Amino acid sequence: MKQKRPYRILCLGAHPDDIEIGCGGTLLALLANGHAVSCHWVVFSGGGTAREREARAGAARFLARAKRRTLDVHSFRDGFFPYVGGEIKDTFEALAKVISPDAIFTHARHDRHQDHRLISDLTWNTFRRHLILEYEVPKYDGDLGSPNLFVPLVPAVAKAKVRSLLAVFRSQRSKHWFTADTFHGLLRLRGIESGAPKGLAEAFYGRKLLVNL
Ligand SMILES: [Zn+2]
Repeated sequence: MKQKRPYRILCLGAHPDDIEIGCGGTLLALLANGHAVSCHWVVFSGGGTAREREARAGAARFLARAKRRTLDVHSFRDGFFPYVGGEIKDTFEALAKVISPDAIFTHARHDRHQDHRLISDLTWNTFRRHLILEYEVPKYDGDLGSPNLFVPLVPAVAKAKVRSLLAVFRSQRSKHWFTADTFHGLLRLRGIESGAPKGLAEAFYGRKLLVNL
């Protein structure tokens, strides 16, 4: 995938930590492999709160090797996205005017968290000629499914992902699910399902894939 201009990636997450949980390993792997990447990273909540610092630290850590990074942290209210959908849609429309990415990472369509789902729907509404990969976030609601696209990870990248999640998102560590074994367990499970060489992978839903032959 070496090319003259950097590969443009758009990462979308409802809350600080979603992007890192969903596709942090893939981003680290892509950057570790030496690809020139320009990343626009958008978090839709947490702006103006203590969580904004975590959002910024997360992006800085996971994109340390990116050629260019742009970070937007919005302050839509956690848990209430569907009730201010119009304003969030305006944010998407504005985003589409400034970026036409090669790949977009966003929430999964069937995610049971209302904020996640809205971000996924608006991604598909807004970006209609783009590669969209939907990532997964483990949660109480039990909405994990059977992804169809896997990115194998080497153990060092998997470890770096998990270590960074715990180091950056200290405000989340009181949540019973926010533990190293949750994150590593999911990587291991997806590694088994994909036959990844090192038994570790991140998984996505690629609902619509255009292939140029
Ligand atoms: Zn979230």
